Amino acid sequence: MHWVVRMNHLNRTTSWWIGFAIFALHFRVTGQDTITWLLMSLQFLVYPHVVYAVARFSRDPLGGELNNLRLDDFCFGLWAAWLGFPLWISYLLVICGCINLAAFRGFRGALEAVALLALGAAVSAGVFGVRFEPDTSMPVTALSMACLTTYLLLFARGAYRRAVTLSETRYKLRQSELALQGQLEAVQALQAQLQEQANRDALTGLYNRRYLNDALQREFDRSTQTGCPLSVLLLDIDHFKQINDRFGHSTGDRVLQNVAALLAQDMDPGGTAFRYGGEEFLILLPRMGSSEAWGRAECYRARTPVSVVVNEERGNPVTLSIGIASTADGAESPQQLIDRADNALYQAKLGGRDRCSVFKNAEDVAR
Ligand code: GH3
Ligand code: MG
Ligand code: MG
Repeated sequence: MHWVVRMNHLNRTTSWWIGFAIFALHFRVTGQDTITWLLMSLQFLVYPHVVYAVARFSRDPLGGELNNLRLDDFCFGLWAAWLGFPLWISYLLVICGCINLAAFRGFRGALEAVALLALGAAVSAGVFGVRFEPDTSMPVTALSMACLTTYLLLFARGAYRRAVTLSETRYKLRQSELALQGQLEAVQALQAQLQEQANRDALTGLYNRRYLNDALQREFDRSTQTGCPLSVLLLDIDHFKQINDRFGHSTGDRVLQNVAALLAQDMDPGGTAFRYGGEEFLILLPRMGSSEAWGRAECYRARTPVSVVVNEERGNPVTLSIGIASTADGAESPQQLIDRADNALYQAKLGGRDRCSVFKNAEDVAR
């Protein structure tokens, strides 16, 4: 049920009971016939429930209730004129009628109320003639004031309760908004975590080849735009198959993890290590030419046998061969840069392993 219909039913029933008492008191003084008493009883005791039922079961309860308020005003006009405009009773009817419609339709509503009151009064005057008997007895005046007071208090209570409900609803909305925001952040964090996992190699924790494709293209483009060189180190563990064969696959895995940890250490900002394939790693070195990259490669190569040993007791050291290529030497695409590093790595292997080799010239690639 619409809250306006419910609120108005309570307000109308309560205040019209008092209205009934006011009219009854007035009639005792002025003296009215049985028909008038009957009409008055219908109006004040039955009518509020009839119009409530009409609004409640109408397809548009709020619209129905507004029509009820209009009908109230018309009836008020009828009664006021019929009784000869008794001052307090008329004032009570006019002010209640205006406030009711003004509450829902603003000033336009008040004007509408005045027009309907006037219409009711005109109809009464037209049918029964014009009367003017403004005096009311003291009990009628007192009761009219009490009725007006009750009506205004009920009205204010309705407004207060609406304000409380509104603020509670706002609070609940805010809470669910915060909860939603929390869920959204959790989903975003999860997404970022998933993305990160998708970009990482499960065994070593280094970035994987999938991520390398994006990162290499990005760095290559940046290098082309800024003119800063980009170098690539391609690192391969020497005779890794033998490690697997002699000490087992899990030892091989541990070696891969240790080499990866070494490569991930002390990375310059911008330098990134990737697991390129089985026992091969790649390091991207933005803003670094081949001689600087060579220094970095030498550093890794020199530290590997000390840091990574296959078997603590027998002390088998692990060695790396490293191929180096740089955009400064004219690589025209990311793939060409890798091919050149691969070619240099091949040279390092040919040269006896455990060494670094810088890509020398384009003919080497062709060969
Ligand atoms: P070279 O010095 O010429 O590089 O010889 P190599 O033995 O290191 O190279 P080869 O390509 O012959 O063997 C690489 C081996 O790496 C073969 C493969 O079984 C092993 N391997 C690849 N991925 C993994 C892995 O994830 N874990 C382990 N334990 N072994 C792997
Ligand atoms: Mg290899
Ligand atoms: Mg190898």
